[in-house]
Order: sequence, then structure tokens, then C-alpha cells
Amino acid sequence: MPEFDYDLITIGAGSGGVRASRVSAQMGARVAVVEESRVGGTCVIRGCVPKKLLVYAGHFGDDMEDAAGYGWTVPEPTFDWPTLIGAKDKEIERLNGIYKRILSENKVDLLEGRGVLIDRHTVAVGDKTYTAANILIATGGWPSMPDVPGIEHVISSNEALDLKQLPNKIVIVGAGYIAVEFAGIFNALGVEVTMVLRADTVLRGFDEDLRVTLAAEMEKRGICLQTESVVRSIEPQGDGYSIRLAGGDIIETDLVMYATGRRPKTDGIGLEEVDVEMTDKGVIVVDEYSRTSVDNIWAVGDVTDRANLTPVAIAEGMALANTLFNDKPTAVDHSNIPTAVFSSPPLGTVGLTEDEARAEYDEVDVYVSRFKPMKFMLSGRDEQTFMKLIVDCQTDRVVGCHMMGLDAPEIAQGLGVALKCGATKAQFDATVGIHPSAAEEFVTMRDKRPPHEGG
Ligand code: NDP
Repeated sequence: MPEFDYDLITIGAGSGGVRASRVSAQMGARVAVVEESRVGGTCVIRGCVPKKLLVYAGHFGDDMEDAAGYGWTVPEPTFDWPTLIGAKDKEIERLNGIYKRILSENKVDLLEGRGVLIDRHTVAVGDKTYTAANILIATGGWPSMPDVPGIEHVISSNEALDLKQLPNKIVIVGAGYIAVEFAGIFNALGVEVTMVLRADTVLRGFDEDLRVTLAAEMEKRGICLQTESVVRSIEPQGDGYSIRLAGGDIIETDLVMYATGRRPKTDGIGLEEVDVEMTDKGVIVVDEYSRTSVDNIWAVGDVTDRANLTPVAIAEGMALANTLFNDKPTAVDHSNIPTAVFSSPPLGTVGLTEDEARAEYDEVDVYVSRFKPMKFMLSGRDEQTFMKLIVDCQTDRVVGCHMMGLDAPEIAQGLGVALKCGATKAQFDATVGIHPSAAEEFVTMRDKRPPHEGG
């Protein structure tokens, strides 16, 4: 008779939790996963996937406009939001089913309900308790909102994905990944968008040139960036809202969305009671093997606030399965993680920003290219592509690649492989380009940017 009901109980069936559970079960472990909502987590249910479907929806508007330059006559298009949301919901339902099937086909028990730790080996789900040798916390994150008068009137990205109808005007507060992506979606679907951000431009932490270039393109598309601004209050006004800014300005709008970051979902699941160490922001502290301060309790994904990206959570879950059930302790390498922002136009980036590279290396060379993509030559769309390479002069290694423009996320994935392999600028230069493509520019940039121009 085994000492525990399971070898592993995972709390949270998102990307990291499902991967860790499924692979552990394939390695022979007896596994259960506890989930209080739908299986799939933020990414599948209320994040990356539905968001990207909405991004695609917006692109069709551009394509229909651009088609005229290629000889197409497109009748005045109309757009129906409920049709899009219905189709999106159907797809999410399908994915939810696939995730559930992955668990059952791999003999992972799904325990539906809220999981709460009772002690270091026991999890309560409803009125039942289950024991396990190891417990994995993979409960993800949730939108966090500042304490502003009227904050109860605003929506987060969760609700933005399920609106019954599109507003005429929206104010989006924040300027991170989510704010920038939703600004692009709503703008492309014909909503008047104002972003209120406390910084001087969007996407703090990204390469400065990329930030400024994207902000300019967003403004060209008609998104109003209310920079260096702080919201003082939000008040209902007729059918909409009136937003008062710190300087006294007032913005009238139909809807207010906050995208001011996310917090780990670690409240009320018994972590304090079993002495799992957390920061004052509720982030679970883990070592490189995802072990918490309690040695049979582990945590992966957004609850650990390492790099809050689905593929990272999946890598952490996979590594944990190897550590626990494959006799192969595995730490995840969090360096050179490529990332994309599905803004309009999108960004793709991997490695260091120019500022980070200058802080880390004695001397860096910077290569920059700006051009109008070929697709827009005939359509006349006024949109730039921007590319930037940052090279450590001493080793010739490329330490940062950044792009804004059509297909940037797809291109950044390949560049991620190159940086992971430690590619040098000479190796980039020795690579034959694919013509005609935008991506070939990354292997044909020969002129260093003179030091006085930026940097
Ligand atoms: P981010 O941390 O990216 O951005 C938060 C934004 O909110 C920043 O602009 C920040 O401003 C601002 N902010 C924070 N607090 C306040 C406040 N009190 N008042 C006004 N503004 C405030 O968070 P997101 O919510 O956009 O996204 C959460 C995470 O989800 C991301 O970090 C990312 O890891 C992940 N994600 C990834 C995506 C992708 O891979 N494409 C897509 C969406 C999300 P400031 O810069 O001044 O601090």
C-alpha cells in the first residue's frame, strides 16, 4: 500500500501544470491535477490564444485596405463582433477539450474544485482530501489593479475578451504587453483608443529604439498615447465613464480597461500555513529546480514570476518532471528567451536591449535598419519595419536582436536559436539571405550605427 494517494498533485491546470502532470504520468508517476476553472489556464482560456485570434481579426481590416493596391475591389466591409466572439469561444472550448483529453489519456486524475494545502502532503478539494509525496503549485496569475477611486467600474483583459459588444471609445491604462496588444486589437476593429501611461512611452524594459518606433506607429494608426499621466478617479457618466487625470484633464469614454500588471494567484491556498516562502508580492520563491522552501513542494510558471510566458512555464514543468521522476535533475535556462508582442505592428525580440548590452560589455556595435516592407509598396500603407542587432565587440557575439514589423514574432523565433547557439556577427553575415523577405535584412546589415546616432 503506497504511503500517499499520489506521487504528485498539481494545483492549477494551466500550461505549466498540465505539462508537468502529463509528462510525470508518462514517466510512471501517479498524478492528479486540481483545477477550479476550465482546464488550459490563462494562455488557452483568457490569454495568448483568444488574444491572438482577436489580433488576426484586426489584420483582416488592413488586408482589405491593402488589397486595393493589388487590383482588388473590395466592397465596403462590415464587421460583427458577436460573430468573432462566438467563433473564438468555440475554438477555446475545443482546446479545453483537448487539454482534458491529454490528461485522461495519460491517466492523470482531474480533481475539479479549489485546491487548498492542509499540510505539506495533503490537499483539500471541496470536502475531500488527497495526499501526495510531491505537490506542485502552478496557479498562475491574475490581473492586478491599483487602488484608484472608481476602479470597480473597469475591466481587465479577462472581460475584454468576452465583451457583449464593442464600445465606440475605450481608455486603456498601462503600457505593457497586454495594454499595447489590446490597444492594437480595438483600434484595428474601429474603436477609438486612448492609452493612459505613466511612462514617457510604451513597453518599459524593451529596447528603447523599439519602444519609440512602435509608439510612433501606434500613433500613426490613430491610437492616442496620453503619456506621463496618472489616473486620479473613474466616475460613471451617462452610459460611459469620466476619467480624471492627475493634471486635471478629463477623458470621457465608453469603457475603461486596466492592464497594469498581474499578481501571482497565491492567496488562500494554504501556502502561508505550510510555510512556503513568498515575497511581499505573493511570488513563490523557488530555486533553479523550482523547489520552494518546503522541500516536497514545487512551483512553476507565473506564480514564481521568473519569465511570465507560456513556453517558459511549459519548460519549467517539463524540467520538473525530469527532476522528480526521471532521475535527471534539470534546471531551466532563463537566458535568451525570445518574446513577441502582438501589437500592430508586432514586435519580436531576443537577447539584451542596447542599454543592457552597454552595461554588460565594454564595447558594443549596433546595426539598425528601417525600411518600408515590400507588401506596402503597392498598397501605399505608411508603415515601417525596424530591425536592430547588438554585437559584443570583444567576442563578435550577437547579444540582442529586435524587430518591429510584419512577421516579427515568426522571425524572432529563428533568431532565438541563433542566439542560444552563441552566433557571432560574422556567422550572421555568412548566412545566405532568403530573397525577397524582410528577414534577410538580419543577415545583410553591414553598416554600424555611428556612435552619435542614438545609443
Ligand atoms: P506588464 O508588467 O507588462 O505591464 C504593466 C504596465 O502597467 C506597465 O506599463 C506599467 O507601467 C503599468 N502600471 C503598473 N502599475 C501601474 C499603476 N499603478 N498605474 C498605472 N500604470 C501602472 O503587465 P501586463 O499586464 O501588460 O502583462 C502581464 C504579463 O503577462 C507580462 O509581463 C507578460 O509576461 C505576460 N504577457 C505576455 C504576452 C506575450 O508574450 N505576447 C502577452 C500578454 C501578457 P510602468 O512601465 O510605468 O511600470
